[in-house]
Amino acid sequence: MTPLDRRTFLQAAGGVGALALGAGPAIARQRSGASGGAEIVVIGAGAFGGWTALYLREMGHTVTLIDQYGPGNARATSGGESRQIRAVYGEREIYTRWVLKALDRWKAREAEWGKRILYQTGQLSLANEWTKELTETRKVFDRLGVKYEVVAPEDLVRQYPQMNLKNISIAMYTPSTGVLKAREGCVAVAQAFEKKGGHFLTAKVELGGRSGSTLQDVVLSTGQRVGAQTFVFACGPWLPKVFPSLMTGKLKTPRRAVFFYGTPPGDQRFTYPNFPTWSVDNAYGFPCIEGRGFKVVPTFNPPVLVDPDTQEHALTPDEQRKGREFAAKWFPALANQPLVDSRICQREDSIDEHFIVQAHPELGNVWVVGGGSGHGYKHGIMIGDYVARRVVGQDDQPELAATFALKSGTF
Ligand SMILES: Cc1cc2nc3c(=O)[nH]c(=O)nc-3n(C[C@H](O)[C@H](O)[C@H](O)COP(=O)(O)OP(=O)(O)OC[C@H]3O[C@@H](n4cnc5c(N)ncnc54)[C@H](O)[C@@H]3O)c2cc1C
Repeated sequence: MTPLDRRTFLQAAGGVGALALGAGPAIARQRSGASGGAEIVVIGAGAFGGWTALYLREMGHTVTLIDQYGPGNARATSGGESRQIRAVYGEREIYTRWVLKALDRWKAREAEWGKRILYQTGQLSLANEWTKELTETRKVFDRLGVKYEVVAPEDLVRQYPQMNLKNISIAMYTPSTGVLKAREGCVAVAQAFEKKGGHFLTAKVELGGRSGSTLQDVVLSTGQRVGAQTFVFACGPWLPKVFPSLMTGKLKTPRRAVFFYGTPPGDQRFTYPNFPTWSVDNAYGFPCIEGRGFKVVPTFNPPVLVDPDTQEHALTPDEQRKGREFAAKWFPALANQPLVDSRICQREDSIDEHFIVQAHPELGNVWVVGGGSGHGYKHGIMIGDYVARRVVGQDDQPELAATFALKSGTF
């Protein structure tokens, strides 16, 4: 047998591989010089890293995107079926502003890719009194001209008889927002990145050699070294593993359980477009979309902190019981319907639940990006653009640097 050279062997073994997404000649040309390095290496092909890499590539840079398990993989925080795109953000107006832009951008990308990612379900926030978040959201919506409706309790009961609304006196409906397909979105971004000449590798990355305050390269799990001028680490809940001294204590990774309940046969009351995305009682959920089940995401306390590499993805008996109790209380017709699917995930919460976009304090060409804090997916399409501009010195929103700075403190 003719011995394979190292690069050919790694590709054949799948250790270092492109996504095999129909790479065109431009990609092949770039790949042949890959070991020589790119201008920019992005580590992490979740919502934050994937979009950052795509925007950088669209700006004309030579970019390599590397992920240990692949875009939107089952361990990533961006994995799974779906994520909410909501505008309700209380006084944190920047995120409402970004959501309005994000909605337009998601629609434009759907048109570009010929793929459905967004379901405009509308979003219903339910409470038994005007909370600070809803009061502040109303002010922001009025200021920004976001369309919404405060639904009177008697109208609510008439519109949504399939929900238990006994103790609900406040309902705010935002028609423009909805649901994004999560894993599919990440894969679509990575495909677009490759089609536009980006270089994708599957490997685990560790920091490589330094020269003073400059990181010279990263080392892949295959032994290959990849050099670049700039490195963006968008590693989601893995950031404390990559940068233990910088990130430990600054990012919390609580386990989250997501339930999909079957709807009764032939019953369309819980299915898009007949039911909106909703939030109530520290939980939220989505209508049944594409037959995947009615999604319920409760919050269980106290939070269980987990390791994204090793946590089991099967529901515990306790989670199963609590999920069913929640669904049965709020959606009585689903009380005896089977659980048709579930997802286990972890959040990556920053101390103040703002995103983190931070130049590494010791390595001048390294950026740390993450802290999606349970609301990052929808903003990938905005934060990716923001990060891309910042890392190449074209920041057009300098007022946001302090908001997204890595902060110390307690959770
Ligand atoms: C249950 C749940 C519900 C949520 N609901 C919503 C919602 O409704 N709406 C919303 O907008 N957001 C929501 N979020 C938050 C949102 O999903 C996240 O904030 C966002 O997806 C984070 O993306 P990320 O790219 O930072 O991280 P990730 O998606 O985790 O991506 C990080 C990537 O880095 C890779 N990586 C890490 N370390 C390395 C390494 N050393 N080498 C190579 N690769 C590496 C990983 O494999 C991974 O693919 C939710 C989160 C959870 C858990």
